[in-house]
Amino acid sequence: MKKVTTINPATEEEIASYDRLSASNALEKIAKANETYKSWKNTSFEERSNLMSKLADIFDDHKEEYAQLATQEMGKMIGQSRSEIEKCAKICRYYADNIHELLADEPIKTEAKKSYVTYQPLGVLLAVMPWNFPFYQVIRFAAPAVMTGNTGVLKHASNVQGCAFALEDAFKKAGFPEGVFTNLNVESDDIKTIIEDKNIIAVTLTGSEPAGRSVAKIAGENLKKTVLELGGSDAYIILEDADLEKATDLATFGRLQNNGQTCIAAKRFIVLEEIFDDFLELFTKKMKEAKMAEPTNEDAYYGPMARVDLRDEIHEQVEKTIKEGGKLILGGKIPNQKGAYYPATILADLKPGMTAFDEELFGPVASVIKAKNEEEAIKLANNSTFGLGSGVVTGDSKRGEKIALQLEAGNSFVNKLVASDPRLPFGGIKNSGYGRELSDFGIKEFVNTKSIWID
Ligand code: NAP
Repeated sequence: MKKVTTINPATEEEIASYDRLSASNALEKIAKANETYKSWKNTSFEERSNLMSKLADIFDDHKEEYAQLATQEMGKMIGQSRSEIEKCAKICRYYADNIHELLADEPIKTEAKKSYVTYQPLGVLLAVMPWNFPFYQVIRFAAPAVMTGNTGVLKHASNVQGCAFALEDAFKKAGFPEGVFTNLNVESDDIKTIIEDKNIIAVTLTGSEPAGRSVAKIAGENLKKTVLELGGSDAYIILEDADLEKATDLATFGRLQNNGQTCIAAKRFIVLEEIFDDFLELFTKKMKEAKMAEPTNEDAYYGPMARVDLRDEIHEQVEKTIKEGGKLILGGKIPNQKGAYYPATILADLKPGMTAFDEELFGPVASVIKAKNEEEAIKLANNSTFGLGSGVVTGDSKRGEKIALQLEAGNSFVNKLVASDPRLPFGGIKNSGYGRELSDFGIKEFVNTKSIWID
């Protein structure tokens, strides 16, 4: 039997091994999820809300255990892992408390005696998920999916299988019937067979652009809907009237949080000429001062990347950018120590066509770009195949809002780092994917929006 072994990226030591599920065993579990769906879809909102509130309590009660697991498996700083588990509890409570309102029938005035739109569940959803928020990304899909009456199966990233099984167990502890939420420890090569299975009705994927393309192609051939939450190369425009202390604090945290591995992290800083040198000097100082250490060190700012191969990949992107004419301001060298560590790195003098400008840099590497004026800054920000998040840092929030409205992205924030919030829709445009998660937009992605007419 094939196994998958999880490895602590801080030490490169093995944590645990998990038996891989064969494709045929996965199909059996999906058939069970479909059986469960047939009764689960008939449960009341109250019943689902009660269980979802219990799931929130499970996250609260097991916060430390789950946080330690995430930190061990993918290297997140322990404080940030705890916040991630708190965020899971928050989403569960949001959907438990608001389901009536979110999925209420909507009367529509017509010539009929009665006509309205109602939202019905669809069946078993497949979720393909990444390791970077190993609990949160899954709950962001699962909480609304289950509240609508769908059931879900998870293909999680191989390096966080401990978190994947902990999530399945959390649903069980909360009292959900078997089959409402199931972990499938399968290889990505088996995803085609799974998507083709008649019991899978739709797919949601959070991950890289290549994974998104592959899954969307298979789902498309099978006429199954997809929601794709893919990568980004988020631009933050720093205007000349910005408070430099605040702008550089935001830039440092934006680039180093989650050890540089957040889809909506600030990745390209587009700074107006007037303040470029001052910004770069202060930003370099703060990035240099940020302490890199093992992720269980409560005083450290950032830790290792999630895997050694991912660290090597970002180093290649940095070296390629330097060869293309980019200037290395800070970092850029693999430290001589065990673990997937990469230092806070800054690249400047970047232009479209260079690797660090065009590609997603999924690690602690900041790209700093000079713009002559506001107009050029907007052009540079929009010169990207991605369109996930974006931001403006300015002393004038009205001016910031005007610019935010011109940025080609699913989320544009002024004087704040983009962050997901259950009350607001979350998602991207261009190669960052399509569809939305969270809020009422997210919950309605996987429902049958049905028109009823009574004559
Ligand atoms: P990834 O390599 O694409 O993996 C994501 C998931 O897809 C994993 O479960 C992976 O399984 C699976 N997978 C990979 N290739 C596949 C394929 N060809 N067919 C089917 N499944 C496949 O991405 P990652 O390295 O985990 O995550 C980083 C990426 O995710 C970044 O680009 C980041 O920006 C993006 N992301 C986006 C969002 C968002 O909300 N937009 C949020 C978080 C992350 P294995 O682990 O078994 O390969």
